[in-house]
Amino acid sequence: MKLFKSADLLHFELINLKKQGYSIGFVPTMGALHHGHLSLIQRAKAENVSVVASIFVNPKQFNDINDLKRYPKPIEKDMDMLIRAGVDYLFLPEERDIYYQDYLDIEIPLGGLDLILEGEQRPGHFQGVVKVVKRLFEIIKPNRAYFGQKDFQQTVVINHLVNQFFPELKIVVCPIIRESNGLAMSSRNAQLSHIEREKSSFIYKSLLKLKERSNFKSLDECLQTTAKYLSSIDGVTLEYLNAVNGDNLKLVNNLNDADYIVVVVVVKFGGVRLLDNVIIKSH
Ligand code: AMP
Repeated sequence: MKLFKSADLLHFELINLKKQGYSIGFVPTMGALHHGHLSLIQRAKAENVSVVASIFVNPKQFNDINDLKRYPKPIEKDMDMLIRAGVDYLFLPEERDIYYQDYLDIEIPLGGLDLILEGEQRPGHFQGVVKVVKRLFEIIKPNRAYFGQKDFQQTVVINHLVNQFFPELKIVVCPIIRESNGLAMSSRNAQLSHIEREKSSFIYKSLLKLKERSNFKSLDECLQTTAKYLSSIDGVTLEYLNAVNGDNLKLVNNLNDADYIVVVVVVKFGGVRLLDNVIIKSH
């Protein structure tokens, strides 16, 4: 695995590869890697000649300074995992290569997708995400980029970005990888105690139950039942539970409202925000 810290050097290396006809798959991450990240890399390896991964803990997408301070940064372990996963290039950008002059002041139009759900809870989060991802796409110019369904809203926002600025780039969304008890893998799970981690299985279980119930009860009723249940669990704060049109994030109350429906949930448990989602209806 070749390690690059300079955006210019990586850019020229990859331009040369592309001139030779090599396809490039790109997996952006914030490090603290787990099997969820590795699944994206495996998919990228299967579909491209060369795979580039990046690790950049983007301060602009953290609206809580304590969350940023607590975010794990085990770089040696991450590099080891990436080498074993067969990544060809690792990009560890310097902040100055990502945030150059005036870049932070420019709003990237996202059609309001950045202002709802996670965007409402974490103002500025998606502007922070797309600014970094846009810059990474400009440097790397991949053929395909890989994102997890785990951060479902992020995939919709990135697709919006790509439609505007990178029409040639294909976004590949990969399924959620879960721990054995059903908890969606996340770098933040390390902040849970052993017992909290075990107990967190209630999130996915309640989503599966909701999906099952939606076969014979109205979606609205199912959402209300699940919201009531989640709010009743000791130590849990429900931030939101919504069914959305998976193409445009508009809220839906009824299975007939859209062809593609995703139920998204965020709870705070053990001091950690835990995100999950389940596809209720697919295209
Ligand atoms: P992060 O390092 O948290 O920014 O995540 C980097 C990429 O890995 C994002 O596209 C995430 O959606 C994806 N990812 C994180 N956790 C999982 C998971 N449990 N399953 C699948 N993809 C994931």
